[in-house]
Amino acid sequence: MKTDLKIIIIGGGIGGVTLANAIKKYGDGKCSVHIYEKEMTVSSTAFKGYTIGLNQMGRDSLREALDIEKYDRLTSELIQSGGQYVVTDRQLNPLINFSCSSYVDRDRLCGLLREGIDVHYGMKFKSYTEDNDGVSVFFEDGSCERADFLVGADGVHSVVRHQKLPLFQMEDVNVYSIQALIPNVGDDVIDLLFKQDNTLITKTLGNKRNTIMFGKVKAQADAINFGVEDIASIERIMEQNEPGNTCLVINYEWRPLVENGRVDLPTGGRQYMLNTLRRDTGNFHPLVVDLLNRVAKPEHLINDQPKPMRQALPCRWPAASRVTLIGDAINAMTATSGCGGNLAMRDAIDLGYALTDIIKNIAPLSIRMTAHEQMIVERGQQQIKLSRDCTEHMHSQELSHCSELFRNTIMRILNKLLIWGVVKIPN
Ligand SMILES: Cc1cc2nc3c(=O)[nH]c(=O)nc-3n(C[C@H](O)[C@H](O)[C@H](O)COP(=O)(O)OP(=O)(O)OC[C@H]3O[C@@H](n4cnc5c(N)ncnc54)[C@H](O)[C@@H]3O)c2cc1C
Repeated sequence: MKTDLKIIIIGGGIGGVTLANAIKKYGDGKCSVHIYEKEMTVSSTAFKGYTIGLNQMGRDSLREALDIEKYDRLTSELIQSGGQYVVTDRQLNPLINFSCSSYVDRDRLCGLLREGIDVHYGMKFKSYTEDNDGVSVFFEDGSCERADFLVGADGVHSVVRHQKLPLFQMEDVNVYSIQALIPNVGDDVIDLLFKQDNTLITKTLGNKRNTIMFGKVKAQADAINFGVEDIASIERIMEQNEPGNTCLVINYEWRPLVENGRVDLPTGGRQYMLNTLRRDTGNFHPLVVDLLNRVAKPEHLINDQPKPMRQALPCRWPAASRVTLIGDAINAMTATSGCGGNLAMRDAIDLGYALTDIIKNIAPLSIRMTAHEQMIVERGQQQIKLSRDCTEHMHSQELSHCSELFRNTIMRILNKLLIWGVVKIPN
């Protein structure tokens, strides 16, 4: 294989930039790496700027992928700890507290990871052709680039995957979400929802296969941190917030009933969605009921239809080639376990090892890439199952009074065991 190899990565999200760093670190200068990102500027990609909770897998991946100087800056300047993720019952009594051992602002993380990396913005990937010598990569602006390897790190709607794995499918898990940003929320509600100053998120478990996540929003960036991507809506709603009041992000997730094969979904726009939310949370704490019935208005809902939760189905891969995939492009999962970003980083560093082995002639492409792809698909499916299990725990069935009491008691006991150090949540 020639020595001056070129690797093109489609997508400058968390997986793509981690991979670029890994190749720079381990490639011994034998290859150049270029990211092509469809967004126009660094700041437009920052709209996916929510906080990422880092688990052990994510921290290890970043340590392995980054050079010492960047890793030191990551740990000393970017990684934060100590925030609380509180799970409560319907009456907002705390059931379990998770202390976030490390989390990082996604925008700042990607900013650090992009330093020294060649990123071409405003370049929307369209298609590729592959031959024995390399890959030709075509963009929507009509331009074409030639490379030795092409990596699809282009997220859940991956266009690279569409061509590489035409049989790939996403599965609907029959859980939907409604997101709203509510202005002018009074202190009484805020104090009740965020009893401790360092509470980042409060998640309330209902008994009708439903949960609500609450997040406090002081600035536009906070709303983005909670996953609201529509900047125009954030600006419009935050303008209505009067001084001294707080904006609240809510993310309502529920599994609708299926009757005679028909999913009971609120179609017909925001008012219908809000009515469903109000109907199914009527037995929550009176202040939450008041918030949703009196303060929340249809125009506070971010989307005009519920968003389905989806996950990747296992898929048969063709023989290993010069085109491969990482992160959400191949391992998209429900957001419940919050580990998709960590997995994207792990996929990236492992692909970095595989590609640099091939580049340095340590292993032939067909053998090394086949082993790598098998491994990331198997690991990805395990993580997808884990996240799905969490989703099912929260949304599988309507609970009777006794079952709900039982669930809440188990969670309280688990919380005590966590406090006493008898059990540990893997981080
Ligand atoms: C609200 C929310 C909170 C989350 N919290 C966590 C968390 O705490 N921990 C965690 O581990 N995970 C979390 N996740 C999941 C995590 O964000 C994803 O798993 C992760 O971003 C996947 O990274 P990726 O690089 O594969 O894809 P992405 O981050 O989606 O990046 C894909 C990139 O490709 C670009 N792109 C797409 N199509 C094209 C094209 N045709 N041409 C060029 N560029 C293209 C996109 O613009 C984007 O920049 C969360 C997700 C959400 C929605």
